[in-house]
Amino acid sequence: MFFNYLNYSEPLFRPPSEANSLILQITHGCSWNKCIFCEMYKSKKFSVKPEEELFAEIDAIFNSQYKVKKVFLADGDAMVLSYGRFINILKKINTNLKPVRITAYASAGNLRDKTIEELIDLRENGLQMVYMGIESGDNEVLNNVNKGETYESTADALHKLKKAGIKVSVMILTGLGGKEFWEQHAINSAKIVNETQPEFLSTLVLSYPFGEKHFIKGLNSKFTPLNVVELLLELKLFIQNTNLEQTVFRSDHASNYMVLKGFLGRDKEIFLKQIENAISDETKSGLRPEWLRGL
Ligand code: SF4
Repeated sequence: MFFNYLNYSEPLFRPPSEANSLILQITHGCSWNKCIFCEMYKSKKFSVKPEEELFAEIDAIFNSQYKVKKVFLADGDAMVLSYGRFINILKKINTNLKPVRITAYASAGNLRDKTIEELIDLRENGLQMVYMGIESGDNEVLNNVNKGETYESTADALHKLKKAGIKVSVMILTGLGGKEFWEQHAINSAKIVNETQPEFLSTLVLSYPFGEKHFIKGLNSKFTPLNVVELLLELKLFIQNTNLEQTVFRSDHASNYMVLKGFLGRDKEIFLKQIENAISDETKSGLRPEWLRGL
């Protein structure tokens, strides 16, 4: 319904939970755009939307009389904007649209130059949560896929957000280590979420939008894809190693072969049982049909 008032640059992505939000593109593309597994913004050159243009869109929505409850700030690492630019945008949104919450995509690197005081100010001006695809807690895996971050840099960013009271939804990419690194990928990914205790956690499964060969060609070291049972074993090892207090856990993205929803740690044993059942069930009846085609 907002489409008439906004000048979107396609492709446009948002997290599934932002389906009913007003999506404001404050940047176009991703300022890093070098992760080997990610094709989301490869067709776009990174740029910042001029403030005049963005504010005119916000004015247009305001004048349309639509009631905006939630605002999601895109594109891929919208928090790359400096504190000064970002706070101006939050203030404009709050003055005109008065949403109950504002969220954004962020990368760990986006947090590097922002102080905790600045982040607190962003939170007090409505930034309630950020979505961060951290992909892995393992430095070899992160290096192999050219993520541009490490365990340490990612943990620093997550700690900063926690101290500022901004909630985080963290994404881990199952399968990213291949057969070579799957165990350390699972164990170190559990380690980083244990250390940082995100409010929300989800696992997605590595896919190959431009084909497996294209993906493997870009890597810094050898990679052998995991099959479905191996992906389940990796997910099991990851969950086994988690020690979370109260994190909402979701494994329900379209890429997942098995839907798990609940809380970690409360539902840890239930999830493990579900995964074990799926592994031992020869018919794989508990898995999504689209994955059965790949068995
Ligand atoms: S930082 Fe995120 S959006 Fe940018 S290339 Fe990597 S995965 Fe894609």
